[in-house]
Amino acid sequence: MLKVAKFGGSSVAGTEQFRKVKAIIEAESARRVVVVSAAGKRDAGDHKLTDLLYLCHAHLNYGVSCDEIMQTIEQRFAEIRASLGLHFDVEGEMEKLRARLNRDTSVDELVSRGEYFTARLMAEYLGYAFIDAADCVFFGYDGQIDREKSDRAIAAALEKHKRIVIPGFYGRLPTGKIKVMSRGGSDITGALAAAAVGADVYENWTDVSGILMADPRIVPEPRPIAKITYAELRELAYMGASVMHEESIQPVKEKGIALNIRNTNRPEDPGTMIVGGTEERGDDDRFITGIAGKRNFTIITVSKQNMNANLTLCQALEIMDRFHAPVEHITLGLDSFALVSSSAAMGDALFDILADLRKTCRPDDIRVQDDIALVAAVGRKMSSRPGISGRLFKALGDSGVNIRTIAQGADELAITVGVDNRDFETAIRVLYDGFAG
Ligand code: ASP
Repeated sequence: MLKVAKFGGSSVAGTEQFRKVKAIIEAESARRVVVVSAAGKRDAGDHKLTDLLYLCHAHLNYGVSCDEIMQTIEQRFAEIRASLGLHFDVEGEMEKLRARLNRDTSVDELVSRGEYFTARLMAEYLGYAFIDAADCVFFGYDGQIDREKSDRAIAAALEKHKRIVIPGFYGRLPTGKIKVMSRGGSDITGALAAAAVGADVYENWTDVSGILMADPRIVPEPRPIAKITYAELRELAYMGASVMHEESIQPVKEKGIALNIRNTNRPEDPGTMIVGGTEERGDDDRFITGIAGKRNFTIITVSKQNMNANLTLCQALEIMDRFHAPVEHITLGLDSFALVSSSAAMGDALFDILADLRKTCRPDDIRVQDDIALVAAVGRKMSSRPGISGRLFKALGDSGVNIRTIAQGADELAITVGVDNRDFETAIRVLYDGFAG
């Protein structure tokens, strides 16, 4: 068994968190590859080191001294080193970095130092080999990660050292320069490493006990999802749930490696397991994996007697596309169809869209309803089970929620309803209380 464990910023924020990480690593010898973010906030008033480093760079840019910020950063690392009895020469390395700082210092190189220092300290603390991401995560000239080259280097490092720590978030360009990924990019490094070494599980350690079944701002203390497929996760993410970014899980998803989201502060919690595969029929009442939704959509209903649906719909979609208005759902009737799109995405273009629809589709009538919210119940266990949608609609109806549109994909992975914005929270609560809680 081989596990790659990635620890986010809050999991490595200070001495206490470093201790928790060590206990987690020592609890399972399979955790042989560790990826870390830069130390994050220890409490609400604290700062993420990455933010401080970006701030430093802004100071340099404007020719303002960043000595104080550099001092804060150095202290933070020196404190961790001292309280854990480590030896890494924080001051010496910081001095070398300071000597290189000037207006031309690349922002990527500077901010990457948050992960670099955190990983140096973590490697020493765990007794693992430190492998610099500059030597094992490579970008091509196109700025994309060179998967083959990176895979080879990461696998070779593990082969040689058996237990390794890699800093997340950055890698090296063919020019030799350091490049950072988008914010939160250590997740990508973790997934990359898991795919490279063929891990059985990619553990992503955070400060929550997994993905929640619904938004906790709407449903009080929702249960974490025990198991979810990559396909379900995609549906939830698309519908606005704050879950891991798709790009960041691509390498593990591709290889069918399970991703386990865990809580560093509650390692006894099993967290959420994200797995490949889809087929799974449920016999219990919990056929919903998660609920998510987004507000502020507009429904445009086009009616035309005896219309040629294919042609008219095609024309309408072409118009929406021209105005960059993403169509979320389409409902088709005999003599009408309705397009649901984000009100913000359409913006003022709505009036041009309507004018073009009138001109091109020549409808008998066009109606516009805005302030619509979309709410999706996502669940692989809904597939091939009769009666599910009826039960969902009945529960919503019984609670006075008027359903404006209904959409279910042929894969039966999600049932999405359009409701009035003002019913948004009620709809989510009703679905959660009735079928997920
Ligand atoms: N430290 C970087 C950030 O704050 C990357 C990461 O945490 O994954 O975005």
